[in-house]
Amino acid sequence: MSDIIRRDPRAEWIARNRLHPLHAAMQPVQHSWMGPNGILRKNVHGVGFIGPNGIKRIDRSGAQQGGVSKRTAAAEVQLPLHQVAAPAFYINVVPDMVGGRLSSHDRDLLGLARQLAGSDGAVLAVVFGEHKESAFATAGVDRLLVLEGHEFDGYSPEQRVQGLRAVDNQFNPRHWLLPDSRSGGGELGRRFAASLKERPATRVWQIKGQECIGRAGAGQEDLARPLPRLILAAAECADPVSETRHEVLPVELSTTLARSLPRIEDLGAVAVDPAAIPMAEAEFIFSGGNGVKDWALFHQTAAALGATEGASRVAVDDGFMARDRQVGASGTWVTARVYVAVGISGAIQHLQGIGACDKVVAINLDPGCDMIKRADLSVIGESAAILQALIEAVAAYRNGAKRDAA
Ligand SMILES: Cc1cc2nc3c(=O)[nH]c(=O)nc-3n(C[C@H](O)[C@H](O)[C@H](O)COP(=O)(O)OP(=O)(O)OC[C@H]3O[C@@H](n4cnc5c(N)ncnc54)[C@H](O)[C@@H]3O)c2cc1C
Repeated sequence: MSDIIRRDPRAEWIARNRLHPLHAAMQPVQHSWMGPNGILRKNVHGVGFIGPNGIKRIDRSGAQQGGVSKRTAAAEVQLPLHQVAAPAFYINVVPDMVGGRLSSHDRDLLGLARQLAGSDGAVLAVVFGEHKESAFATAGVDRLLVLEGHEFDGYSPEQRVQGLRAVDNQFNPRHWLLPDSRSGGGELGRRFAASLKERPATRVWQIKGQECIGRAGAGQEDLARPLPRLILAAAECADPVSETRHEVLPVELSTTLARSLPRIEDLGAVAVDPAAIPMAEAEFIFSGGNGVKDWALFHQTAAALGATEGASRVAVDDGFMARDRQVGASGTWVTARVYVAVGISGAIQHLQGIGACDKVVAINLDPGCDMIKRADLSVIGESAAILQALIEAVAAYRNGAKRDAA
């Protein structure tokens, strides 16, 4: 066993949130203890478990005598299953699936779709090509349609629009929701709208009844308009689904897709210098703070990882990093998919700048600091030793990959 302390911020949050359905499972329940006068005390509230529909169940068969369940709490507590046997209508969602997984923007969109679907409608997610996602059920997907085929690989907006049109003909959804993002959804949504000759609502951040509000005027104004069928929604347009589980029933297209000759040829991704990517657009940021003691090693690690460098204000003020690398309230607000914070305490001004990052990794000596509370993965230890180990791990991984390829 390694002595690295691993924390799960989501579990800690659920343990604090008494209204969350998994709250009880996260409590260290003490079922019996010896009182001060030597009498054995039992906690009658600790008996039983929460059933799949959220109601507390007590097993009187004797299996739980003494309040000790043989099954672990995590195994028996499941979110209530939301089923839609015969959907009255569909709300179709086309997630970006960056890296084959649902992004936080995709999850917000699915949360919005669930609101629009209510109890009668079903949320149908349309995914192109292979994916690695295993959490569609808890993200709110009732039906899943995977459009497979090499024609959808890479940058293929024409083929994708053709696929979406076939889905539209078959399911005739009440609404189409796409992320208004730079990861593909924004462009695909606009192309799809043009092909359907429909006017989409763009950069939507709120839907109220039959009206939606989107950003306009270079982000300076709000534009309210009647809710159209096609909605391109901004990140944080709704809360992601967190209290129900969904069926994720697979559905298929009843027609085979007609192949047409695409006019766009994808010549593949172009390698770019990570340092030349503007901070606001960087996908992978490696950020250093006051806890970085060896800046040469820091730069070496960022180069080995191929990450864009960022910094806390203290690192900038101390002259270790350029001003345009500062992340935070008085620096740049970043939207990276992965943000690694090395020796950064997590002051509120810094955390404001990384609010939209997908996954945060913290490397820090202090297990109680705010950056560790914010992080999805934490490594507690001295930064120089961890950076050195990281460089070695990357080199070993690359050598292994080269050996496999040879
Ligand atoms: C108006 C205003 C605006 C501001 N705007 C910003 C902003 O945009 N961006 C910003 O970042 N800050 C901003 N700040 C400053 C902010 O409040 C913090 O002071 C700053 O973010 C702290 O930087 P830090 O985390 O690098 O340093 P510290 O707070 O000193 O934290 C250093 C961290 O490194 C850890 N550490 C120490 N040694 C090691 C080691 N050897 N290995 C591993 N970990 C180690 C420590 O445990 C600690 O958590 C602003 C402040 C004000 C007042």
